[in-house]
Amino acid sequence: MVGNRRRILLQTIQQINESTTIFHRLPFVPFDVSYLSCCFVHPKNYLLPLPITHYPLPITHYPLPITHYPLPIIYMDCLNDMDLEALRRICSGGVFQGVDLSALSHWRIGGFADLLLRPASAEEVVALRRWFFSRDISHVVTGKTSNLLFADEGLRVPCLQIGQALSEISIEGEEVFAGAGAWVPGLARTLMLHGLSGGEHMSGIPGALGGLVCMNGGSNGRSVGGNVVSVESVDRQGTLITREARECGFDYRRSVYQANGEIITSLHLRFLPGDRKAIRRVMLADLATRRKKFPLKEPSCGSVFKRNAPMYADIGPPGAVIEQLGFKGMRVGGAMVSPKHANFIVNTGQAKAADILEAIRRIRDTVYDQTGYTLHTEACYVTPEGKVLPVDSVL
Ligand SMILES: Cc1cc2nc3c(=O)[nH]c(=O)nc-3n(C[C@H](O)[C@H](O)[C@H](O)COP(=O)(O)OP(=O)(O)OC[C@H]3O[C@@H](n4cnc5c(N)ncnc54)[C@H](O)[C@@H]3O)c2cc1C
Repeated sequence: MVGNRRRILLQTIQQINESTTIFHRLPFVPFDVSYLSCCFVHPKNYLLPLPITHYPLPITHYPLPITHYPLPIIYMDCLNDMDLEALRRICSGGVFQGVDLSALSHWRIGGFADLLLRPASAEEVVALRRWFFSRDISHVVTGKTSNLLFADEGLRVPCLQIGQALSEISIEGEEVFAGAGAWVPGLARTLMLHGLSGGEHMSGIPGALGGLVCMNGGSNGRSVGGNVVSVESVDRQGTLITREARECGFDYRRSVYQANGEIITSLHLRFLPGDRKAIRRVMLADLATRRKKFPLKEPSCGSVFKRNAPMYADIGPPGAVIEQLGFKGMRVGGAMVSPKHANFIVNTGQAKAADILEAIRRIRDTVYDQTGYTLHTEACYVTPEGKVLPVDSVL
């Protein structure tokens, strides 16, 4: 039986080698020949392409029937094995090849990312940026991906994910120092435990602090920028920069970090002393409201469209307007306008980025036709070349 499987595998490898050029032209390829030396047949007749340690997710996530498994491929021909070795030496948090973005991303959508790096300190971010800058290799930064739509074609540039490895929090009185990878609901809870008020509105936002600051996110009329004292970041050349809050260009869902290409590594925030029990009550009430209002069980990126102030004053928030126009429950492929909240587009299982884009386009155009107001998206689209753009700018 095992011999038979090996024979099938060998035949497959042979076929692949013969048709490599065809595979290389496809966005998703069933096999990557460069990995085949690492492949082995799983007892359940699955093909595992890489040493498990190269994958960021639990092994159970990967084995799919051999016929359905789109194995990752490294398109990044600018990086050879020695380069990857050098990157592994710099980046102790992990260097992962061929990462399935539909498994990793919050919306559960996207092709394969050629290379994902998880730096474990600001020094590692500096070293990585210098390394990429000296070779003229562009790259993209993400946090928890809770505001991002990755392209179906995946990502052809390295992706630096700022997460758990950079998530230390320390508190001195009202001054809070936190790594950009700090999990926002966790930070809100820590603030509450220290009797600090002002972070309650962040308790249900499923992002990392760096992503939240870049988006100047928040809820209940508040934004994180209001609590920022200063931000430490790393520019493209690999220089550490500290900006005071007034230099960060905070506005409604805006900051300079959306355009300046800097990677936020840590934050100095300030909160006010408050009563722990009262803060906890506000947080629990906020979480309960969110559970009631938002479809939290299905993958989404939260509110797709930003508030349009004149439209808000005239006819209401995006969710209410989209609902009035009858979009709740509308499906495009695997994407659906949530029946619970019309400003959420959920992935019902197999949604493609193309489905989400089409749904957003239909909503935006109809809102414009019916009301005269243009809605802009809060959610951002990540192109295969690593550009992060508001989704509505690519429709
Ligand atoms: C169910 C749900 C509810 C949500 N509710 C809210 C809400 O109430 N309010 C709200 O504002 N948002 C909300 N969001 C959206 C999202 O959670 C926030 O925008 C969040 O702050 C994004 O953080 P992230 O770490 O996931 O960033 P990502 O989505 O990974 O990235 C967002 C942007 O930040 C950039 N970025 C990420 N990390 C860094 C860094 N370290 N340095 C520089 N740039 C960086 C990325 O390049 C990208 O441009 C919600 C999302 C979901 C899924």
